[in-house]
Order: sequence, then structure tokens, then C-alpha cells
Amino acid sequence: MLIVFIGPPGAGKGTQSKRLLAYLQIPHLSTGDLLREAKCQDTPLGRLAAQYMDHGRLVPDPLVLDMVGECLSRPPYAKGCMFDGFPRTIQQAKSLDDSLNERGTPLSLALELRGDENELIARMIKRAAAEKRVDDNPETIAQRMDVYKKQTAPLLNYYKQRGILTTIDALGSPDEVFERIKAVVDAKRKAG
Ligand code: ADP
Repeated sequence: MLIVFIGPPGAGKGTQSKRLLAYLQIPHLSTGDLLREAKCQDTPLGRLAAQYMDHGRLVPDPLVLDMVGECLSRPPYAKGCMFDGFPRTIQQAKSLDDSLNERGTPLSLALELRGDENELIARMIKRAAAEKRVDDNPETIAQRMDVYKKQTAPLLNYYKQRGILTTIDALGSPDEVFERIKAVVDAKRKAG
């Protein structure tokens, strides 16, 4: 199964994709985690990416696409994958489609996590205290929301037209949200 998670910052993509990973036993690819790791290790990619991430802007497509391409070429990803925080632009979505079509394994499902913006912002402010992410401050959060609406939300229509989009209510406890996701994934698996 190949699944993409789409949702505004704070919607819980990371939390839910980690749960789904345990449930489906397929690898998880989070571009946010990979970029934070590169930043932490102070690699050339990490240093460059930090200039964008720390201000809530998207890292340029070519850098992200190279990084994802490298990951997908590794054996664990042959069976399936859950993409979290990727694709985030139409160019990234098209490029992902191209490489998956080449492999003959198109996307199975695009899961949109949707929730009231103010609730999501409140969640992130709380998370900031626990995780100390540099980009979880009020100005950067507002910028990331804006970037989501302008650059990532158009993907919803892209996947809707392909008939693979399902929208899930992101509000509620992590367990409640996961039950909703599981129902969608189970139905998809049954349908083959
Ligand atoms: P969130 O969804 O809470 O914003 P992520 O961990 O997915 O968190 O992303 C954090 C930051 O990493 C983004 O604001 C962006 O700068 C960068 N990033 C992550 N994934 C991508 C991507 N696919 N394309 C461009 N930038 C990305």
C-alpha cells in the first residue's frame, strides 16, 4: 500500500502515520523528520534546509525530491510506504506519481486530516513546550499555515480528481482519529 498523508501543520500527520505504520507494517517516510535529522547532523542539505524550515517556508522541490528519491530506492520501500509531509507541492506530487508509475505501483490512498485552524494552532503551541521545535512559535506557525493553504491545499483537488482522496476529521483524541483512519484503510484493503 502506498499512502500519502496531507494536512495542515498540527493536524497530527506524524502521530497518526506512526500508528498506521505499526498497524500496516510498511515503512514511514517523513520529509520533516528527514530534514530535521539532516539539520541536526549539520550536513550540507541540513544547513540549506534550515534556512527555509526555521522560517516556516518550504524547502525547494529539487532538494526534497532528491532526498525522497534516494530513500525510495532502498529495499524496504519496495513493498509500500506511508508518506508524511510529502508531497507538499503540485510539482512534488507529479514527480512522485511519475516515479511510482515507472515502478508500476501507483498511490493507493491520499488521506487528508482536516481540523479547525484555531484548534490546530493551540495544539502546536502545546507541542512547542514539549518538543522545543524551532518552528513551533506563533509567527512561524502562522507562516506554515499560510504556506499550507497556498502551496499544499491544491493537492487535495489533484488527488480528488484521481479518486483516491479521503478526508478525516483530525479533531479528537489520537485514538479516536486513528480509529477513523483504520476504518478507511481496512475498507481500502478489502476492496483490494
Ligand atoms: P508540519 O506539518 O508540522 O509543518 P513537518 O515536520 O512536516 O511539519 O515539516 C516541517 C518543515 O520541514 C516544513 O515547514 C518545511 O520547511 C520542511 N518540509 C517538510 N517536508 C517538506 C516537503 N515535502 N517539501 C518542502 N519542505 C518540507
